[in-house]
Amino acid sequence: MNEYDSNRILDFVKKINYCLTKSLKDTDCYVLNTCHIREKATEKVYHEVGRLKKEFKDKKKPIILIVGCVAQAEGDMLLKKEKYIDAVIGPQSYHEINKIILNVEKKYSRINSTEFETIEKFDQLNLIKNNESKTSSYITIQEGCDKFCKFCVVPYTRGPECSRPFSDILSEVKQLVDNGSKEVVLLGQNVNGYNYQNKKLSDLIYSINENKEVERIRYTTSHPKDFSNDLIEAHADCKKLMPLLHLPVQSGSNKILKNMNRGHTIEEYLEIIEKLKDKKPNIKLSSDFIIAYPGETNDDFDKTLKLLHELKFINSYSFIFSARPGTPAADMNKIENKIAKDRLFVFQREAGLLKKNYRDKLVESKTTVLIENKVNGQNKYFGRDEYFNSVIVNCDKDLRGEILDIKIKNCNQNTLYGEIIVNDKYEEYAA
Ligand code: SF4
Repeated sequence: MNEYDSNRILDFVKKINYCLTKSLKDTDCYVLNTCHIREKATEKVYHEVGRLKKEFKDKKKPIILIVGCVAQAEGDMLLKKEKYIDAVIGPQSYHEINKIILNVEKKYSRINSTEFETIEKFDQLNLIKNNESKTSSYITIQEGCDKFCKFCVVPYTRGPECSRPFSDILSEVKQLVDNGSKEVVLLGQNVNGYNYQNKKLSDLIYSINENKEVERIRYTTSHPKDFSNDLIEAHADCKKLMPLLHLPVQSGSNKILKNMNRGHTIEEYLEIIEKLKDKKPNIKLSSDFIIAYPGETNDDFDKTLKLLHELKFINSYSFIFSARPGTPAADMNKIENKIAKDRLFVFQREAGLLKKNYRDKLVESKTTVLIENKVNGQNKYFGRDEYFNSVIVNCDKDLRGEILDIKIKNCNQNTLYGEIIVNDKYEEYAA
């Protein structure tokens, strides 16, 4: 979502004649768009500002704006501790950026703009064209979260759940495909909580599926609690909706899910997957896991491993629990570091073996790849298959934006290497 926000910030500032610079030394205004999810996010901001101070020691200082969730979480503290920063702007108020820049230019004052103005921001986003021209484009459809998982800062940094107007999203999809996008990735902290005047995520997917210029649809990140039957039906009905579901589960233990305030049980999670597989047999799964959450016993951890093996996630993103200041879990007793590290090691080893097994079986199989980019300086192209696997193919013709049948010849942990299958349609691409 930060990538999407950064692009929209660029679209805003173009209105006051700012543009993207190629090198740091040319910058008049430095925007640091921050994320607060990972550890030490605030320290990283101070570190980055320190780097800027050195870079501009003997030059005119640029305007320094800290945007995003660290700005939201820290607010005045950033301004107080670091005089070099001119303004902090929360993720729901970046539509104010031009006013802020003009104010700072006139040396009015240093500014804290961290109100939750999501509806106004969505309105303002509609007034600027989304100029991004990429094969695969993000589009924010929903922001914020009302779930209040005990470990998570999002409800405090992105504010309450708020959905963008249905027709505005469809207009932005049109802008993106007019600019050459073939794939749209619908974004939200709780993307399947999307609800605008009773229109749901499934309604959006059905509508985008009708757009002849869109070839692929994805969405992220969804929550099991909001995974309704209409969305399952959309997976079955909409051919352009890719058959990979990223559905964070965090733990395989009901006790831990309750302690996290996730609002669902493992049985309910499994029921969703069962229904989905019934309607869409080729669906595959990826998920997020927090290892060694406070109170996790060996038995709880074994349940997480059991779930991993049962559902055979093709990608599992796992981290040791780390406390976020201000969240309820930050006050809970942490699991001993050595135990946490051992569990993460075991989990990642098992998840890695599952992934390797899955990828090894892809060798010599056929897959369909949307080509996104040329690999720098080489006659190679990067794309993704339907399951979001990275694929590289050799070719000396420009393949960007093409959807090609590829035979996988080789793979490693992160990338599949393939050859274009030559048929009538693709004969011209044969290297
Ligand atoms: S549902 Fe997701 S975004 Fe919301 S509080 Fe839980 S982890 Fe954070």
